[in-house]
Amino acid sequence: MAHIEIENLTFSYPSAGRPSLSNVSLTIRRGEYVVLCGKSGSGKSTLLNLVAGLESPTDGSINVLGQRIDRMSEIERIRFRRSHIGFVFQSYRLLPQYTAIENVALPLMLRGVEKRERERRALEALDMVGIAKCARQRPAQMSGGEQQRAGIARSIITSPAIVMADEPTGNLDSRTSQDVLSLLKVTSQKFAQTIVMITHNEEIAQTADRIIRIEDGRIVR
Ligand code: ADP
Ligand code: MG
Repeated sequence: MAHIEIENLTFSYPSAGRPSLSNVSLTIRRGEYVVLCGKSGSGKSTLLNLVAGLESPTDGSINVLGQRIDRMSEIERIRFRRSHIGFVFQSYRLLPQYTAIENVALPLMLRGVEKRERERRALEALDMVGIAKCARQRPAQMSGGEQQRAGIARSIITSPAIVMADEPTGNLDSRTSQDVLSLLKVTSQKFAQTIVMITHNEEIAQTADRIIRIEDGRIVR
């Protein structure tokens, strides 16, 4: 089954002269671990943002989990994203005033899960990514690797069908990067999740089931 199906997608930022994506077609199957690889400015983040419904196509269609995300209203897209897509960011994006457990529990809070239950599940997720010991610490008291593990725990706490990671190891040393990548892989296999990860690092790209190469807003391979 296809989890993501993109057809003839073209996208231009309103302020930009030329399109950031041109005529992109792509199918990603359920449970696939795919890497988008390309130089800086090639359109990787733009593509991910479109699939997540953060931007709307200029032309073409985007089908995610059997639904036309490009046809949804803003509100529908927000709901869809919260229910089905997890995000991991290069800069972790943990809230500094919250502890690890509170950060990881945040997506559950947005869903109205009560405090005791969401903290129980957040602790479980922190344990799974190997940093239960950091539960009561704030991001400033954690290493980069620990913060990214918390970022991964937060991305999977709602059991999303799809996890998107934009340069998740861009701020980590190579040893910690390997740990974080294998963690992403293990959790995705455990929950049969589809992973779409951006990187410009060849070594990291080689860990994927499939590498999709982007140049100048076009898929070249
Ligand atoms: P990548 O993630 O591969 O580095 P991006 O998807 O961020 O590339 O950018 C693709 C192209 O779109 C680049 O030419 C970039 O300058 C342009 N771009 C990205 N974001 C914006 C924006 N908010 N407004 C205008 N142009 C943008
Ligand atoms: Mg980018």
